[in-house]
Amino acid sequence: MGCGITRRDFLNGAALTLGAAVVPSSLFLACEHPTAPEQSSGYYPPRLTGLRGSHPGSFETAHSLRDGTFWQHAGTPADTGETYDLVIVGAGISGLSAAHFYRSFAGPQARVLILENHDDFGGHAKRNEFPAGGRTLLGFGGTYSIESPAPYSAVAKGLIEELGIDVASYPQYVSKDLYFSLGLTPKIFFDQETFGTDKLVVDPTSLGGAETGDRASQSPERWQQFLAEAPLPAAAKRTYYRLYHDNKDYLPGLSSEEKKARLARISYAKFLISLVGVHQEVVKVLQAGPHPLFGVGIDAVSAQDAWGLGFPGFGGMHLDPAPGKGMNRDAIPNKEAESYFFHFPDGNATIARLLVRKLIREAIPGDSPADLVTARANYAKLDDDRSPVRIRLNSTVVEVKHDGDPSAAKQVDISYARFGKTYRIRATHCILACWHVVIPYLCQELPGKQKQALYSAAKVPLLYTNVAIRNWEAFEKLGVSSIYAPGCYHTEATLDVPVSIGRYQCSRQPDEPMVVHMMKSPCKPGLPARDQHRAGRIELFSTSFETIERSIRDQLARMLGPGGFDPSRDITGITVNRWPHGYTYEYNSLFDDFWLEGGETPCEIARQPFGRIAIANADAGAYAYTDGAIDQAWRAVGEITNRLASSQAL
Ligand SMILES: Cc1cc2nc3c(=O)[nH]c(=O)nc-3n(C[C@H](O)[C@H](O)[C@H](O)COP(=O)(O)OP(=O)(O)OC[C@H]3O[C@@H](n4cnc5c(N)ncnc54)[C@H](O)[C@@H]3O)c2cc1C
Repeated sequence: MGCGITRRDFLNGAALTLGAAVVPSSLFLACEHPTAPEQSSGYYPPRLTGLRGSHPGSFETAHSLRDGTFWQHAGTPADTGETYDLVIVGAGISGLSAAHFYRSFAGPQARVLILENHDDFGGHAKRNEFPAGGRTLLGFGGTYSIESPAPYSAVAKGLIEELGIDVASYPQYVSKDLYFSLGLTPKIFFDQETFGTDKLVVDPTSLGGAETGDRASQSPERWQQFLAEAPLPAAAKRTYYRLYHDNKDYLPGLSSEEKKARLARISYAKFLISLVGVHQEVVKVLQAGPHPLFGVGIDAVSAQDAWGLGFPGFGGMHLDPAPGKGMNRDAIPNKEAESYFFHFPDGNATIARLLVRKLIREAIPGDSPADLVTARANYAKLDDDRSPVRIRLNSTVVEVKHDGDPSAAKQVDISYARFGKTYRIRATHCILACWHVVIPYLCQELPGKQKQALYSAAKVPLLYTNVAIRNWEAFEKLGVSSIYAPGCYHTEATLDVPVSIGRYQCSRQPDEPMVVHMMKSPCKPGLPARDQHRAGRIELFSTSFETIERSIRDQLARMLGPGGFDPSRDITGITVNRWPHGYTYEYNSLFDDFWLEGGETPCEIARQPFGRIAIANADAGAYAYTDGAIDQAWRAVGEITNRLASSQAL
């Protein structure tokens, strides 16, 4: 275990962390172009391992702006003399879509610049690559798939189609029976610190394989095995079983509407303890269940949302299936939405890359989503003065202000910091497609109420870790395809989705290399959701790659060791995609009265256009999905183009 950190891991991970405060990681790649490392042939962020996501070098400027120290050290911005029709802040899916929509209106010659503080484009939709023998393994560093709890809007669907993605064709690329056909199923890892002993046990509640179509809660064998093996006290096992099998009404005498109103105001943990009467150990098992969706545990998710998400305990409650007041949109089942799903090997980084290809053809060769999967982006072409659209990476916007009175100004001045220098450019319009919490620091001239609403959109922190391994024989030996580990640092560890597309072939045999995807939601159970997210964000920013790496190696050794897994031998690469500003915050009936009682939501106040500035990003819809980011880009572009159209009509 202890000797497992290779020199390469150290260079890519720990060493970068040490150098973080002073030099962005991309410079390590490209010393021959100290002021424009993107121009170097070696500049290729998807291949970087170690601490990625909000990587060292990407956030320090924004934090010094927040702390009020940035302008103490920055000189007067150098005027580059550049002017654009539109400057977009943020090269996530919202910013890239905004550029695309704007060009559809203004024509292909419209001059657009996108400024992005990270060393790669895509925002949360990030691509990870791992060399593995003669092939490259892909992983998703953030946005996992085309999916949304509500159906995609006509606009978002239209864009997906325009990019050439045929969502309905997904079944032809995924080998959905692969793991099940090898006898692998989901399991739960009980860890010693939380449950007294390390033990990997069959998960009796997950489907035995998507293709069985047969709910495992009805599979007596799996339940028998679980009850025999789980390291839980007998009383806990009894209440665990009852929770899934007793169809009891825990709020007798109330109408469905009254029950939902009660469930919207209590956490699922409280429902389980006070109404169902489960053993405390059962709460520990279920605690991290909602992490992948909400970034908090069952202490901060309403019982009504838990019902909508299919958590157990509601079978005898006779709740009307119509959504209750104050439900989170994630918790409202929708058949049409469920059938609209596509996972590319690098997740929705494919959407970001398709958008970049549309905006700057020379940057990524090819002409279909299938060939794009293995295409290498040429970063040197992103910011080329011959191209009407340019993407400038490693550039943190620090000020956006109208040149004069916002109601009459003819242009917007935008300042950004890049490798220790500050620059100023001008644009006829500006779209802020960046995180809403950042906007009040950039755009001082916004009204106070709007700034307050923007501040309130602090995001949900997450870790999406990809671990490249030599082979997945240990998974095969243990008969496991994914692990839920409620007491561990990473609460999920899953074999990659077996998708082959274009020239990309997924790993099909256990002796082939594989990417294991691990997930963590840093949070502080017991606090209100926003406070949990704040605590988690601080935790992520203050934990070194070395510490995270050790916990990964330790956890994988403990979970998979009985199957022969040896981290020092079997791990070939680790990329920790750190997202302290991860999912958009979605409203929660436990903590946001307006969401339960109605009234204007903060995101509606936050996204108001201001003079020549419009505001996009998924935050503008308080909806943590790709379609939300696209829809908000469309609205923001519409605000600008309507303004343009009406001024031309005068
Ligand atoms: C880990 C994770 C997994 C997800 N999985 C899914 C999924 O499976 N399906 C799905 O539909 N959605 C998913 N989402 C949500 C989805 O990724 C987002 O809703 C969407 O990608 C957001 O796009 P965006 O452009 O609005 O924001 P972002 O992707 O955050 O892009 C905004 C960009 O602005 C940049 N920026 C911020 N401040 C500045 C500044 N001052 N100067 C310059 N640039 C700045 C940021 O660094 C960022 O790159 C996931 C999100 C996360 C975090």
